[in-house]
Amino acid sequence: MLHNDQLDQWDRDCFFHPSTHLAEFARGNLPQRVVTGGSGCHIEDRDGNRLLDAFAGLYCVNVGYGRPEIAEAIADQARELAYYHSYVGHGTEASITLAKMILDRAPDHMSKVYFGLSGSDANETNIKLIWYYNNILGRPQKKKIISRWRGYHGSGLMTGSLTGLELFHNKFDLPLAQVVHTEAPYYFRRSDRSQSEADFVAHCVAELEALIAREGADTIAAFIGEPVLGTGGIVPPPAGYWPAIQAVLERHDILLIADEVVTGFGRLGTMFGSDHYGLRPDLITIAKGLTSAYAPLSGSIVSDKMWQVLERGTDENGPIGHGWTYSAHPIGAAAGVANLTLIDQLGLVENAATVGSYLKDEMRKALGDHPNVGDVRGEGMLCAVEFVADRDDHRLFDASDKIGPQIAANLLEQDSVIARAMPQGDILGFAPPFCLTQDEADRVVSATHRAVSAVLG
Ligand code: PMP
Repeated sequence: MLHNDQLDQWDRDCFFHPSTHLAEFARGNLPQRVVTGGSGCHIEDRDGNRLLDAFAGLYCVNVGYGRPEIAEAIADQARELAYYHSYVGHGTEASITLAKMILDRAPDHMSKVYFGLSGSDANETNIKLIWYYNNILGRPQKKKIISRWRGYHGSGLMTGSLTGLELFHNKFDLPLAQVVHTEAPYYFRRSDRSQSEADFVAHCVAELEALIAREGADTIAAFIGEPVLGTGGIVPPPAGYWPAIQAVLERHDILLIADEVVTGFGRLGTMFGSDHYGLRPDLITIAKGLTSAYAPLSGSIVSDKMWQVLERGTDENGPIGHGWTYSAHPIGAAAGVANLTLIDQLGLVENAATVGSYLKDEMRKALGDHPNVGDVRGEGMLCAVEFVADRDDHRLFDASDKIGPQIAANLLEQDSVIARAMPQGDILGFAPPFCLTQDEADRVVSATHRAVSAVLG
């Protein structure tokens, strides 16, 4: 075991931390937390702290930490066959079985699974498949992708462009030209406060129609959206949003990508967010909950309609020129099989529904009347509390006050509970593992109440 000082030094000298203020880290103003273990909804660090992780890592450790069933499946696979590729018809029992298990759970019209490693690369795959599809159909000009402001779809070149958060564009020369953004279905932050939910949905639809008219429907290939906006603030859509958007897309022959990296495999209390909102996507992006992050694995689930055209494309052009060395990596696939089996065995999707709605209800009871709480919202095992300087006009706090980060830091320091200060706005996000108990939910709520009072009075 390394001495802590040595590890801290190497951490500063050698390790480029993602999504981190590099200069503050170098100055020693950010924590250096070395995580050493975890079990259920808790993680442990090297200083002996035991923290209740109410964000499941990055909303990914859905079955909870320390599951021996998944660890053993990974070890068995590594011993038997750590790696072989999946090009030109090769595969492993784990990868083939996992593809079958995914399709058994996905909406009926889905046909095949392409495996990658991260949510970002799966969305890159989706965009390439869509461009390929339209080229095969003889409409090479139909290539633009519509995404929503506040959507999160990854941080690659194309996927970082799809992401509708400025932090991911600034100084990176993004978004790329083929990406256009439209209104987020964020009712709480509507600009016209007199709008009802139905009026606001009509407004989002009108904005989308106007964008399509401006760009030309013959130039637009697809629309990408998370069933519930995640990183952009944990925002469930207003009632009727998805059916109305889907009708517009169908009318203009625009494909739909449901980015279910967060919502896939149970987070909304249904197997997929597409089930929850009645979506009929052409592609579904999956990652995080596919393996509960026990190993990196992602996927693009392709509909029948697209698959027919992709097959035709290879008859006309030869093998599809798209593959990663680690596509369908056997260790990730073994983790995925064990993870999905465990989710079924333990009834974790049902638990996400019941304990998730308990968490949201209790959070509302505890915080709903606070003068600086504008909104408490959620769906399934996703919950958010949005803070405002003024409850009547929903005025934001000055960003430099860092209200969200302060509350998250207080919660962690005083009560050892991890929530996430979402990157845009003063929003505290919760996305616990699905095995959260009611007692743990109570602890999260009372700790949050205490932290909010400590910071805001
Ligand atoms: N899509 C969504 C909806 C996500 O939340 C994320 C990650 N938070 C991604 C894509 C990108 O996944 P990854 O970080 O694994 O590339």
